[in-house]
Amino acid sequence: MTLKDISLRNFRNVESCSVSFSPGINFLVGENAQGKTNLLEALYLFARGKSFRGASDAELIRFGQAGWSAELTFHDGARDQTLRYLYDGARRQRFRNGAPVDKAGEMIGLFRAVLFCPDHLQMIKGSPEGRRNFLNVGLSQIDPEYLARYAKYQKFLDNRNALLKDAHQGRGFDRFEFFWFCENMSEQATYIHWHRVEYLKRIEAHAARILREISSEREELTLSYESEILPKGPTYKDLNDAYDWKLAKNISRECAAGYSLFGVHRDDVDVKIGGVSARSFASQGQQRSIVLALKLAEGEVARECCGSYPVFLFDDVLSELDETRRAYIFKGAEDKQIVVTSCERETYSAKKTVTVKGGTYVPLSVSGTGGDSQDG
Ligand code: ATP
Ligand code: MG
Repeated sequence: MTLKDISLRNFRNVESCSVSFSPGINFLVGENAQGKTNLLEALYLFARGKSFRGASDAELIRFGQAGWSAELTFHDGARDQTLRYLYDGARRQRFRNGAPVDKAGEMIGLFRAVLFCPDHLQMIKGSPEGRRNFLNVGLSQIDPEYLARYAKYQKFLDNRNALLKDAHQGRGFDRFEFFWFCENMSEQATYIHWHRVEYLKRIEAHAARILREISSEREELTLSYESEILPKGPTYKDLNDAYDWKLAKNISRECAAGYSLFGVHRDDVDVKIGGVSARSFASQGQQRSIVLALKLAEGEVARECCGSYPVFLFDDVLSELDETRRAYIFKGAEDKQIVVTSCERETYSAKKTVTVKGGTYVPLSVSGTGGDSQDG
């Protein structure tokens, strides 16, 4: 997977730009508030379908304008593909190689990227949501069925919660409907839980190795999936039976609560370093290194599953890291493509450096190829 270029119009602080990228390391260098993260946000929009900063489409419109557009070209290993979003202030249209795409989900998994941003540091000390998100994001990009199943699960959960709320507030309880939602929720939950556990094992194998290497053998990482669902045996069927049982056998407790007490939306990942909880004991630098190891591992697993590395988008990853850890990020960069933002010009062997100023992007160097074109 190689990112080739992106063009934006009226997106955040960008009036109009066209930025091209090289394989290897691409630096986006500029002072604060110039548009470095804005560009990563636009790139990641094509991987996840939505802003990683939680912004609505309307918030992405350049102040005073009516809408925005973004177009990205990448090489998927076989051919060039172009994805385009067009937001007119009311709705977003999607295009793949010029043809309209109806469903948002159909755009996911085509352009694959791994994002690191400073908010992800919350993954270690923050709420379980951040850790579940890590699993959801990684799995959605390698398994389109996961994404579809997750959307279905959410729908069944919402419906089931609505029934439990009715019961809780004395508005009656439709048992027949309730059991129908339980059955469907259990089917989706089993798939999600099963694949999260499998995925986490693969992530753990890579992340533990990476962390050992980053920390010069000092830090041992373990990851385990935490759920209240305890199957009686190791098979998929055992897990499904455990969900069926849990969801159907706690009606009075759940009616009293007024919402679903069990399910994959409540699960967590236990992150341990040197045998103790990272949540309670990891230092600032350790947290950063663990998140980094998880992100690099996400890229390794994606490569195993899809045959090529996703594009790595690293926002402000270098601060607070010592030189050994910084160098590690760029290890093996010849095989990867990394877009990294920084306030200072770095000394690493960047294939390309782009200076960012007031929403314009000017290429400084493309080592080896000599020159490049842009419009700011
Ligand atoms: P830092 O180094 O501080 O992280 P950055 O270069 O990453 O800075 P960005 O977050 O990319 O900065 O850009 C921030 C700038 O974009 C701010 O000046 C902000 O006001 C501007 N901006 C954000 N949204 C919009 C918008 N919808 N319209 C116009 N400008 C916007
Ligand atoms: Mg920024």
